[in-house]
Amino acid sequence: MRYITGGPQEDGCIFCNRLARPNDIESLILHRAEHCFVIMNLYPYNTGHLMIVPNAHVAEIENLDPHVIAELAHLLPPVVRALRRVLGCEGFNIGLNQGAIAGAGVAEHLHQHVVPRWQGDANFMPIIAGTMIIPELIPSTYAKVRAELDAEIHGIARFEVVLLDDADEPNVWLCDDEVPILDSTPESPVWRSAVSSLGLQDAEVVGYSGAPGTMDRVTTPGLVIRTTSVPDGSGWRRLPLFSQYQQSNNRAKTSDTLLRVQNNLAPWIRNDSDNRA
Ligand SMILES: [Zn+2]
Ligand SMILES: [Zn+2]
Repeated sequence: MRYITGGPQEDGCIFCNRLARPNDIESLILHRAEHCFVIMNLYPYNTGHLMIVPNAHVAEIENLDPHVIAELAHLLPPVVRALRRVLGCEGFNIGLNQGAIAGAGVAEHLHQHVVPRWQGDANFMPIIAGTMIIPELIPSTYAKVRAELDAEIHGIARFEVVLLDDADEPNVWLCDDEVPILDSTPESPVWRSAVSSLGLQDAEVVGYSGAPGTMDRVTTPGLVIRTTSVPDGSGWRRLPLFSQYQQSNNRAKTSDTLLRVQNNLAPWIRNDSDNRA
């Protein structure tokens, strides 16, 4: 599992470090606004624990420009709506911890926590004492929430669905030789729209197939889903995901998408057991 390492503290500020890196999937950044960004917590208190973080490395709220605080507040409604749709949570803890004495884990860079809550979750959620490590859910939750924010914040309604079977060396399902496009419906989360539109009996979201960078407005966003089902409809065929597809096919968009999935998911899907920490 490459998303979480319980290893030694990294040098510098974890927020500034991630903001400076280009690959938002690896950094778990879900959205970049003008003055703030949204990132998943590496050590979540609960599934879907996000943070809204000002870009500026500032420790105290009174030292942030008012328009930065305003943007931070503006990001809350879409973030809360996206989390509720994806996770079906019943409540939220939303808050800023200012100063180490107040419980701030990264006291030098102020950040706002958004923690989804469910009935009864406090029984297993050590919210003050420590964190819950839910590594297997991180890439899945990241993909679902990022797609949902694509819809919420950017108004995107069309998503690619990279459908993989459950073979050890996975195959990708193509429809008429292309990665299928889903038109999402506003009443259900993007990932569930994908699963039901393809008639999948079982499905697991395993990653995000869109651009690594959240500022990319050209690449079609999408989800990588694994299933044991055969998708509904005709025109489907299976090809090995790790084939030389991109060199032998003239459908450039599908080739680009599969190349991104190969690059971003290869270490995780291919060597699942090796990388599981
Ligand atoms: Zn965004
Ligand atoms: Zn910082």
